[in-house]
Amino acid sequence: MKALVYTNPTELTYRDEPEPVPEVGEALIKVDAAGICGSDMHAFHGHDERRYPPLILGHEVSGVIVGGSRDGEAVVVNPLMTCGTCDACLDGRSNLCANRQIIGMNPREGAFAQYLRMPERNLVSMPQRMNPVHAAAAEPVATAWHAVAVATRASARPVAECKALVLGAGAVGLAVGLVLHLGGCRKIRIGDTNEFRRATAKVAGCGDVYDPIGDPAPEPNGYDIVIDAVGGKVTRGVAVAAAKPGGVIVHIGLMDNDGGLDIRKITLQEISFIGTYTYTMVDFRATVAALHSGALGDLAWVEARPLAEGHSAFLDLDAGRTPAAKIVLVPD
Ligand SMILES: [Zn+2]
Ligand SMILES: [Zn+2]
Repeated sequence: MKALVYTNPTELTYRDEPEPVPEVGEALIKVDAAGICGSDMHAFHGHDERRYPPLILGHEVSGVIVGGSRDGEAVVVNPLMTCGTCDACLDGRSNLCANRQIIGMNPREGAFAQYLRMPERNLVSMPQRMNPVHAAAAEPVATAWHAVAVATRASARPVAECKALVLGAGAVGLAVGLVLHLGGCRKIRIGDTNEFRRATAKVAGCGDVYDPIGDPAPEPNGYDIVIDAVGGKVTRGVAVAAAKPGGVIVHIGLMDNDGGLDIRKITLQEISFIGTYTYTMVDFRATVAALHSGALGDLAWVEARPLAEGHSAFLDLDAGRTPAAKIVLVPD
């Protein structure tokens, strides 16, 4: 099969690779579309010790089952493989599974290829006539869905009454804006330093878009909910400054690990600071249904490109010169 293989830092090679052979409980998937994630980009730069070459990256996938009892079924792939037996899994918090593994990370090959093997229980049936390119966006949108669910649970006020601030308008940040809007929130501000991303967020209709460099900073102590989809020292500082007393900060991005937190304010103003990681199967299924129903808009921010041209797609994303919040690679 053809695959786009991460062969060296900043090098992706489109070449022939052996077709994966499914093990017991797994299905072979013919990949229809696979999105490029920020974590794939991180690996591409050689900054992820859990993703080392040679490796097929990619974990945001839709496709069709080949062979077995579900032959021909169109599916969206939940790429997070969990054990089903640890405490977290038994508690319905499978995203926190002690033995979790994600595809596109060593030792498990990812989806920038014509075929992928996947445990059958990770496959979500795709609604009829759903666009496979849109379906591939389910993974980042499920991450946003879960983050908004966490914020909703922690917030003293109903989301529809909240003022919300979203930091970062990449695929996850933009989806957070759309999911908050779907939840009835009408006071959403979303910031990104990239002008193309700001333009895309404006068109997608996920809130009042601002430039963190050129525009005035978000109102201090002004927001019930702040969702940080960047996760850097600077954005953490912005998040804490903007949170209302008693407000909630949800941290999704993980750009760096240290700094930015005003512990004094967090303590004296009872700010909830909550980390989130991926999604549960419940979030994932709800996301697929919401995407399919049109509840999250027309998804014009998802762009399809041929898998063979994946390397240039990585370069365009890295240089910030594409208006697409998500580029999805489509095998021939
Ligand atoms: Zn991803
Ligand atoms: Zn588990």
